[in-house]
Amino acid sequence: MPDYKNCKECGADIHADDIAIHRKLIDRGADTFFCIDCLAGKLGCRRSNIEELIEYYRSTGKCSLFV
Ligand SMILES: [Zn+2]
Repeated sequence: MPDYKNCKECGADIHADDIAIHRKLIDRGADTFFCIDCLAGKLGCRRSNIEELIEYYRSTGKCSLFV
């Protein structure tokens, strides 16, 4: 059974936003996730870039992954 609550890379706690942005950027059907730090590393960008994306998607209110 997959563990939804920890990053599959570093084991850090995963929050709802981390899951949402992972699904948005990597795989909509994902059932294992990276934390924001590992996601930024995978994508070759900074953690702050990911956080800005999360804010953006949340502010639009149009993405069902961000509520
Ligand atoms: Zn991680």
